[in-house]
Amino acid sequence: MPGNPQDRVWAAIDLAALERNLGRIRSALPPHVRYVAVVKADAYGHGLYQTVARLMQCHADAFAVANVFEGAEVREVGAGWPILVLGAVLPGEEDHLVNYDLIATVSGEEEVKRFEKAARRAGQALRVHLKIDTGMGRLGVWHSDAEALFKRLEKSKHLVLEGIFTHFSSADSDLDYTRTQRDRLLRFIKKIPVETQRDLLVHADNSAGLESFTKDSPLNAVRVGLLQFGLLPYPTSLLSRLAVEPVLSFSTRVGLTKELPSGTPISYGQTYRLKQRSRIAVLTAGYGDGIPTASSNKAEVLIMGKRCPVLGRITMDQTVVDVTHIEHPVSPGDIATLIGRQGREEITVTEFSEWGNCIPWETFCSLTKRVPRVYQ
Ligand code: PLP
Repeated sequence: MPGNPQDRVWAAIDLAALERNLGRIRSALPPHVRYVAVVKADAYGHGLYQTVARLMQCHADAFAVANVFEGAEVREVGAGWPILVLGAVLPGEEDHLVNYDLIATVSGEEEVKRFEKAARRAGQALRVHLKIDTGMGRLGVWHSDAEALFKRLEKSKHLVLEGIFTHFSSADSDLDYTRTQRDRLLRFIKKIPVETQRDLLVHADNSAGLESFTKDSPLNAVRVGLLQFGLLPYPTSLLSRLAVEPVLSFSTRVGLTKELPSGTPISYGQTYRLKQRSRIAVLTAGYGDGIPTASSNKAEVLIMGKRCPVLGRITMDQTVVDVTHIEHPVSPGDIATLIGRQGREEITVTEFSEWGNCIPWETFCSLTKRVPRVYQ
C-alpha cells in the first residue's frame, strides 16, 4: 500500500524488457553491424544510469548523447565505452570532449578549428565523426560540400576521424525521401577509398530507418533510440516482426471517489458536465507529472482493468476520471494506469501521445521529476 512518494505516481522501468528488445533488434541486423544506443534526454526518460548500465551488460557497442554533459554522465558509468555527442558543442565546452573522452560530431570548419585547439591544448587527439546533411536540414555539412571537410579531417594532426553519418528526417513517414537521403550518403561514401572506409563507422539508421538496412551496405552501425524502449515508430514488416516490448509504464493512484449529480461541471473552466449521476475518481497526478493538458476530455486510464475516461481539464496535480461503469467499488489507493497494461487492456505510449497531441519521444521526455523511476 502507498506510504512513499513513489507510490503516488511512478514510472516502472522493466530493464529485462530493454534487454530482450536489444537482443531482438540485434538479431535482425547483420552480425558485423555495431549497435549505438541512443540514450539522450535521460535515456528517453527511462533513467540514464540504470539504462546505460543494463545496455552495457547486454553488449551495446557504443552510446550516443545530445551534449557533452550527458556524455560526462554516461562516462561515469561506462569507462572505455565509445560515447558520441550528437549535438553541437558550444564554444567553451570543448575541454569536456577531452576530459571525458567523448567523440564529437563535426559539421564544419569552425568546429574543426575549435576542436583542434582543444586537442592541442590537452596534448591528445580528439575523436570525431563527420556528419553529412543529406536532407535533414539540421546539423552536418551539406552532402555536396562534404568532400573538402572530409579531406581536411583526414589531414588533421589533432583530430581522428572515426566515423561518418547522416540523420533521416522522415524515416517514419516517407520511405522515398529516406532512400534519397541514404543514396546521398552512399554516393559520398563511394568517393572514399575502400581501405579508409573499412576503418570508419558509417551510420544512418535510426529506429524507423532499420527497415531498409541491407547486408551488403557500407553502413556498419545503427543508432537506435525509441525502438529499444519498445515502441514501433513505424509499423513496417521488419519492425513489427521484432515484437519489441514496452519498457516503461506510468501509473498513479485514486485519491478520492465520490458521486455527483447529473449536470455537475468537472474541473477548471467547466469544460465537461456530467451527463448522468456519476461516480468520479480523483487521481493523484496531473500535468505537473507529465499528463498533457491537451489530453483533457480525451485520455483514458485503466482502473481495475477497465478504461475510464478523463473528465474535464487535467490540472497540475490531479485528474478526474469517470468510474461509474466499474462494478467493484473503486477506493482511494487503487492503481490507475496511464501508460501500460491492466489485465487484458493496454494503453500504449502511442495512444497516450495521440491524446496529448504529441509524439512518443516527447511523452517519454515529459514525465517530470515528480515521477520516480522504479526499476524492475
Ligand atoms: N540519431 C540522431 C541524430 C537522433 O537525433 C536520434 C533521435 O532523435 C536518433 C538517432 C534515434 O532516433 P530514434 O529514437 O527514432 O531511434
